[in-house]
Amino acid sequence: MAYTYDPQNIFAKILRGEIPNDTVLETEHSLAFNDIRPQAPIHVLVIPKGAYVTYDDFAANASDAEIIDYTRAIAKVCAMKGVEADGFRMISNAGENGVQEVPHLHVHILGGRGLGRMLERG
Ligand code: 5GP
Repeated sequence: MAYTYDPQNIFAKILRGEIPNDTVLETEHSLAFNDIRPQAPIHVLVIPKGAYVTYDDFAANASDAEIIDYTRAIAKVCAMKGVEADGFRMISNAGENGVQEVPHLHVHILGGRGLGRMLERG
């Protein structure tokens, strides 16, 4: 399916510098920043600078350079936060069933505590 990107979403505003963020890492094609409502001691969001709604949109339509940059940015954030030592969870919510609040691709990198099983019913 073709996604329609809403340029008024909050992460687009962050990328345009219209609202502040607590930056962890910025690369040519990606930005990582701390989640405003952290759900774990480490809770970083990593977004591409390009206008992609979900991971499958990005994986299908982004350039090789964007995909490499984004993937490496995720690795750099994991290394910066040291999450490989005790483990972590990476989540990317999509659409209604995924309960995606912000319609600009982001992965959540969560760590710093035990995170329980992957899915709770509810
Ligand atoms: P989603 O449900 O779309 O996967 O997650 C969106 C995430 O973005 C949530 O964890 C929420 O706390 C975070 N968020 C929403 N608005 C802002 C904001 O203005 N700044 C930052 N840093 N995080 C935000």
